[in-house]
Amino acid sequence: MIQIAIVGAGPSGCYLAQALLKAVPGAHIDILDRLPVPFGLVRYGVAPDHQGTKAVARQFARLFEKQGVGFIGNVTLGQEGEGGTLSLSELQSAYDVVVLALGLPKDRALPLPGAALPGVIGAGQLTRHWNDHPDDSASLPDLGRRVVIVGQGNVAIDVLRILAKRAEHFDGSDLAHRHSDHIAAAGIESIDILGRSPAHEAKFDPVMVKELAKLPHMGFAFEGLAHSGAASQDDARLEALANLPAAADHDIRVTFHFGATPTRLTGTDRVSAAQFDCDGAELSLPCDTVVSAIGFETHVPGLRDDLLAGAEDAALGVLRPGLYAAGWFARGPRGTIPENRQAAQALAARIAQDLGTLPKTSKTGAAALAARLSGLTDYAGWQRIDAAELAACDAGRVRAKVADLTDMLTLAAGRAQDHPETET
Ligand SMILES: Cc1cc2nc3c(=O)[nH]c(=O)nc-3n(C[C@H](O)[C@H](O)[C@H](O)COP(=O)(O)OP(=O)(O)OC[C@H]3O[C@@H](n4cnc5c(N)ncnc54)[C@H](O)[C@@H]3O)c2cc1C
Repeated sequence: MIQIAIVGAGPSGCYLAQALLKAVPGAHIDILDRLPVPFGLVRYGVAPDHQGTKAVARQFARLFEKQGVGFIGNVTLGQEGEGGTLSLSELQSAYDVVVLALGLPKDRALPLPGAALPGVIGAGQLTRHWNDHPDDSASLPDLGRRVVIVGQGNVAIDVLRILAKRAEHFDGSDLAHRHSDHIAAAGIESIDILGRSPAHEAKFDPVMVKELAKLPHMGFAFEGLAHSGAASQDDARLEALANLPAAADHDIRVTFHFGATPTRLTGTDRVSAAQFDCDGAELSLPCDTVVSAIGFETHVPGLRDDLLAGAEDAALGVLRPGLYAAGWFARGPRGTIPENRQAAQALAARIAQDLGTLPKTSKTGAAALAARLSGLTDYAGWQRIDAAELAACDAGRVRAKVADLTDMLTLAAGRAQDHPETET
């Protein structure tokens, strides 16, 4: 039987497994992840108040529950010789086909003086924190009343919306009460959100801005809108902005600045101002927190840089026959969850084609890994974590996520009777 390993249980890994079930019938597919839980950014990136988007996890669950795909958690793919990790050559000796769908975990740092000041935080880190990712579960310092967000993509708008929401707006979400309490305690009064582009070229989807109009305690102001000339007045982004309520007597004033290039952050113990160049004029915004939402680091020394440099067809994700890349790991940090589906279908077709020419082997897949690695978890382990999170759910929430890796592993192993304490 052909053994296929997909490393990374995010949307791209899951969509690829779906496509491979059709393209390579009869193959056995395992999806591996460094965490004991599947679904990548669906669980740890998508905003906790967007449960409709997170529901795609139910579709992916069918892979493991009904379609025979294996889940192997708590295994990290790393460089040869790195302790505690599985190397690519070990994985390839166990599987006929290996696909890397590892995502891109690191925020792109603001390339500015002052970017390392306390109070400056990456949007990826912040959204992982709100989503209780075990790597980012530590408490955050106070946010303060004035927040600056650098970047105007959908992730920036997610951050803006969550910071601006009142406690009652998180009903039906899985945002832990400790996070909504932390946001409420900041007493945020102003949020400035800045991007280099003119408004009609901003990266957000209009629907994300329309959603903001539903929050009555927020009023909106705009700087630099003139850069979006009359020719683009029918742009959906401009229309969405025009329908936002103007700032008046609102509790939170949100100002969109277009054509604003960040130049430096200043402060002594903590960031206290963010400077921008707006068409040659300097803008200085006093602030307590700066969130940089300018994307994810694409330069990942080691596996990613080395493999993509020698790729046979990097756009499609063909590194070499038998070894492939998918999702953000292959294409960089661009695109929505559904966009990974189309790319997965094209890659699955290519894998099926290559399999016709690869030499026949008798590799044993998961059995070979089990002999070499300890502490692996399986899908039943995730189901135990899932059940504990649903059972422990507080009023107004749809689940209470376990944020601690040791607690997750305890639950996955079936050792814990109760949900470990997640609130601190
Ligand atoms: C904050 C944020 C919010 C977003 N919101 C939306 C949204 O609302 N709607 C939408 O359509 N798109 C959204 N996106 C985009 C969407 O999340 C991505 O398109 C998608 O997750 C990319 O999928 P992926 O599988 O390539 O990567 P990921 O989802 O990052 O999955 C990668 C997986 O690989 C695992 N992994 C990483 N390194 C290793 C390793 N060394 N060994 C083993 N496993 C490893 C990770 O644990 C993870 O499970 C959002 C993105 C972000 C960052």
